Amino acid sequence: MAIRREQGAAAAAERVRAGSSTGLAESILVGMEELRATERGLLAVRAAASEAQASRTKWIVLLGSLAVIAVTVVSSRLISREIERRRHVDRGLRASEARYRVLFDRNLAAIARTRRDGLVLDCNAAMVRLLGCASREEVLGMSASQFYADPGDRERLVAGVAPGEGVVDREVRFRRKSGELIWVSMTFIEYEEAGQPIFEAVMLDITDRKATSAQIEELNAALARQIRDLAAANQELDAFSYSISHDLRAPLRAMQGFSEALLEDYGERLDATGHDYAGRIVAASRQMDALIQDLLAYSRLVRVEVKLDPVSLEAVVDEACGTIEMEVKERGGEIIVERPLGRVLAHRAVLGQIVTNLLANAVKFTKADTPPVVRVRSESDRGRVRLWVEDNGIGIAPQHRERIFRAFERLHGAQQYPGTGIGLAIVQKGAARLGGQAGVESEPGAGSRFWVELAEGEGATA
Ligand code: ADP
Repeated sequence: MAIRREQGAAAAAERVRAGSSTGLAESILVGMEELRATERGLLAVRAAASEAQASRTKWIVLLGSLAVIAVTVVSSRLISREIERRRHVDRGLRASEARYRVLFDRNLAAIARTRRDGLVLDCNAAMVRLLGCASREEVLGMSASQFYADPGDRERLVAGVAPGEGVVDREVRFRRKSGELIWVSMTFIEYEEAGQPIFEAVMLDITDRKATSAQIEELNAALARQIRDLAAANQELDAFSYSISHDLRAPLRAMQGFSEALLEDYGERLDATGHDYAGRIVAASRQMDALIQDLLAYSRLVRVEVKLDPVSLEAVVDEACGTIEMEVKERGGEIIVERPLGRVLAHRAVLGQIVTNLLANAVKFTKADTPPVVRVRSESDRGRVRLWVEDNGIGIAPQHRERIFRAFERLHGAQQYPGTGIGLAIVQKGAARLGGQAGVESEPGAGSRFWVELAEGEGATA
C-alpha cells in the first residue's frame, strides 16, 4: 500500500509479483490494517466536520429566530403607533367637521355651496331667511342664478374668478322670493372637490346699510350746500356790517362834533342839566365811535388776506408797548420784556393788533391803587412759540375764562372799566387766522396770564 502510494500502482504490482507468498499475505494484512486506519481517520474527520456544520446551523437558526422576533416586535409597535396616529387624526377631522357644521348651520351670515353650473349643494338657515324661502329644500331646488336680481350677474361674477381664488365684500343685488330687491355683500371662494369647482359663499344683507349710507351722502351734500350758503351769507354779512359800521361813523362824527361845539359855543347859555346832557351825548358818541372802530377792526381781520411770514416778536411787542408806555409810567407801573422773545410765523399787522389788545387789557384791569406791572415773555417748544402777557390785575374767575373771548362779553360795567368787549374776540380770531391759538390762566385777585401760541418763524423777519 505504501509502495502504491509512494511509487505508483505498477511498482506495487511488481512488488506483489516479486514478493514471496507469506510476505504477500503479510503485506496484504498490513495494507488492510492501514486501509482501516485511514478509513477510521476519514470517518473521524467527517464526523467532526458534520458536528461543526450542525452547530453552525443551530446558531444560524437561533439568530434568525431572534431577528424575526425582533422585527416582528418592532413592526407591530410601529403599526400600532400608526393606527393610533390615524385614529387621532380621524378624531380631529371629525371634531373639525362638527365645528364647521355648527358654524355653517348657526351662522347669522347666509352661507351656500354651489357648483359652477349653479346647482345649490348646501345652504344654511340664514340663507333660507335671506331669500325669504320656506325651507332649505326649497333653496336647494333653485339655481344660484335665481338669487340674483339680474341672473347675468352671477355669470359675470363667477367668470371673473380664477381657480382657487374668490371675491371679498362684492355688493350685488338679490331678488327675494317675494320679489323684493335687496343689497347683499358677497364674499366667496372657489375650491376643488372631487375634481369639480365648488363655490362657497358668505352673504350679508346690507340693504339697511346701503340705505343709511345713501341717506348720509344726501345729508352730506345738503350740509355742503348749507355750508356754501352760510359762507356766502357770512361774507355778505361781513360786507354789510363793514359798510354799515363805516357809514355810521359819518353821522356819529357829526353828533360828536356838534355836541362838542354846543358845549364850547353855547356852554354859557346852558344850565347844569343842559351841560350834563351835552356831556353825556359826547361820551356816548365817543363810546359808540370806539365800538364801531373795534367792529371795523374785527371785520377787517375776517376779510383781510393773511400771508404768513417770520415776524420778530420783540419788534411787535416794542411797537405795542410804545402806545401805552407813557400811561404806565404815569401810574407808577412798568412793563418788563424778557428778551429774546424769538420769531413766529405771522401777519405783522394782525399780530400787532393781538399784542396791543392784550397789553391794553393788562394795564386796564388793575386793582384799585395798584400800579400795573406787566411781564412779557415767551417759551418755545417743538416748533411752537407761546407768547405770555402776565399782569398783576384783578384776575378772572374760572367760569368766565372762555366766554370773555366772545364778542361783546364783558365782566364789568363801562363806568368801572371802559371798553367795547371786542378786544379778546379780535385776539382769538386773529390767532386762529395765523394758524395758532389763544387762552388764559387766571385766578380772581391773582392777576392773569394771557397767551398766544403760533408756529415758530424761520428766515428773514418781516
Ligand atoms: P374790553 O377790554 O373792551 O372789555 P375784551 O374783549 O378785551 O373787551 O375783554 C373782555 C372782558 O374780559 C373784559 O371786559 C374783562 O372783563 C375781561 N378781561 C380781559 N382782559 C383781562 C385782564 N387782563 N384781567 C382781567 N380781566 C380781563
